[in-house]
Amino acid sequence: MHTTKNEKRLKVAILGGGPAGLGLAIELARLTFIDWELYEKKPQISETGGGLSLQPQIWKLLEHNGAAAHLTANDYFRSAEGHLEQRRNGRSGELLTIKYNPKDVPLDRRSCRLARSKLQSALLKNVDQTHINLSKKLVRVEHLPDNRVRISFEDGFVDEVDLLVAADGLRSVIRNFSFPNNTPHYNGQTVYRTIVSKSEVRKIDGIPWAPIFWKHVSGLYVYTCPLGDDDFEVTLRIRRPQEGAEPPSWGRPFDLHTLLHKCEDFCPQIRQILNLAAKGETQEFALFSGPRLKRIVSHGNIAFIGDASHPLLGNFGSGASFALEDVYTLTKIIGWALPRGRPLSDALDMFDSIRSPHYERLYKVLDNFTSIKATLRAEGLPVDEEIAERVKRISQASVSWMYYYEIDKVVDGYLRGLEKCENEARPTSKVVKQVMMGLGVTVR
Ligand SMILES: Cc1cc2nc3c(=O)[nH]c(=O)nc-3n(C[C@H](O)[C@H](O)[C@H](O)COP(=O)(O)OP(=O)(O)OC[C@H]3O[C@@H](n4cnc5c(N)ncnc54)[C@H](O)[C@@H]3O)c2cc1C
Repeated sequence: MHTTKNEKRLKVAILGGGPAGLGLAIELARLTFIDWELYEKKPQISETGGGLSLQPQIWKLLEHNGAAAHLTANDYFRSAEGHLEQRRNGRSGELLTIKYNPKDVPLDRRSCRLARSKLQSALLKNVDQTHINLSKKLVRVEHLPDNRVRISFEDGFVDEVDLLVAADGLRSVIRNFSFPNNTPHYNGQTVYRTIVSKSEVRKIDGIPWAPIFWKHVSGLYVYTCPLGDDDFEVTLRIRRPQEGAEPPSWGRPFDLHTLLHKCEDFCPQIRQILNLAAKGETQEFALFSGPRLKRIVSHGNIAFIGDASHPLLGNFGSGASFALEDVYTLTKIIGWALPRGRPLSDALDMFDSIRSPHYERLYKVLDNFTSIKATLRAEGLPVDEEIAERVKRISQASVSWMYYYEIDKVVDGYLRGLEKCENEARPTSKVVKQVMMGLGVTVR
């Protein structure tokens, strides 16, 4: 931190203009002792195709950062029946499970689905865009002797900051620098996402107006869901081993016709909707995932938020929520700790002690799913039975706490615990752990 006019100011660089980076830009602007700049490698703040689910826990955060005010009912699809999702046999169309929003979730906080660009532009409206620096691709991170970080960009531009926040997504360059042994790898699956017109989909008999996974075996599925306006999402996930070749990057245009022959086993309405999607503009997304980071801070001056903090593949359909939970935690902690004279490295440790156990719990859920799927594969069931068993067993093992997680209560409880320690001059960790246990939350 450096001193200006007797006030200690913190210079922050945010790397990445996705939901995590934009959310952080909004919140940091509210902290008067912070100077921030956001760097994004693309020439504009944009989001590549497809849809995104907003689960119940994100709404409070979108209200908190003001983005909810820029989303209207036309922007998204929310199931009138309260469906969270359906799972069907993709070959026969048979309905296998339906998950609902719990009844006590208020209507305006129930899950919904929208084009990813809608969330992006709702967030962007609340960001002071004079601090956004576009076409700035980070290529190098260095530590300076005075505890600052130097960041260098492809175009030769260099900045030096007190705090670097990595919001640069699943294949974070900053994570490679801080944790070189934790590199996400292509997991052999690729998704193809197309947005088609609702009026065209209505001509196909048997496509229910709901979020639906049309499941097959071996990771193969088609996902269909109405979005806002005239948009309807069609996503195909398919196994595509690359055999040594570098898999395609995120969001490349793709000719879906070339894969239709691999989908001939799907039921007629799914074949029709894939044909429709093949006439539209499809984008290809190779899926990457990696091991959990043991800590989501490094060197006392780098924090990881959003996908950069947890290379998780989008499994819970909640990545934007997790990103905004990280943002809420980081900014609340910094806003509490630094004005009290606590060092930045302490604040980052506090952030880590709240968020790392959260990600640890999420990884455990996935580990459980992985072992269920491996057991099932070993049983060698006939295809339709395997589809039904897979849906049944995963559904039985599913947990939903992450969709109703109230990060504000967790962070506020944590800070109350710290204040109690200060007042009673008691050791911090013990009191905080007690307060958090009362909230049913594990912290380190
Ligand atoms: C198949 C799939 C389905 C998903 N479905 C959902 C869903 O339904 N609901 C949901 O909430 N989430 C979903 N997710 C997850 C969601 O997309 C992410 O969690 C969310 O976009 C994370 O936001 P982010 O800001 O952390 O990262 P990103 O959105 O990836 O943003 C990172 C930004 O950093 C920029 N950047 C990267 N490298 C550099 C660099 N070197 N220099 C400068 N800038 C850089 C990128 O250009 C990008 O703008 C899904 C993910 C996948 C893969």
